[in-house]
Amino acid sequence: MDGPAFRVGLGHDRHRLIAGRPLIVGGVTIPFDRGLDGHSDADVLLHAITDALLGAVGAGDIGELFPNTDAQWAYADSTVFLAAAVAEVHRRGYAIGNLDCTIHAERPKLSEYKETIASRLAELLGMPREQINVKAKTGEKVGPVGRGEAIDADAVVLVIKSRSAVRYETTT
Ligand code: MG
Repeated sequence: MDGPAFRVGLGHDRHRLIAGRPLIVGGVTIPFDRGLDGHSDADVLLHAITDALLGAVGAGDIGELFPNTDAQWAYADSTVFLAAAVAEVHRRGYAIGNLDCTIHAERPKLSEYKETIASRLAELLGMPREQINVKAKTGEKVGPVGRGEAIDADAVVLVIKSRSAVRYETTT
């Protein structure tokens, strides 16, 4: 497969916090009195990572692959979206190099869950824990995040052309 040896992808997502939903971030259920609203399980971090992966290989975005108008994805486990994006990266001849991400939440304080989330992401992505970095920030009490109305997530991934996709030149 032709194409550059390295590609980079960016993802961003936001979901509203509402009562009566579980709070799931990065595939981890976090105890809180509210959860994220959405068609699926509304895992804001997995959605951002899914978009970053799809973006890295030029495969569009999560909304194209899993429309929120499709009843099939109602209350869907977002690990399904992530797995599909990982499969797409592999299908196009790339492996994931590293992932860096930031979760923006005023409450609950997510810094104490960073390690749990990073380990879970390593599991879900099938990559070493050391290649994953999870950061947590507040919204400084301003904007939708700062007022506690929403949680945002950003993700950036580097993908590397995998060995199987490299066309080796023989010298003999
Ligand atoms: Mg989303």
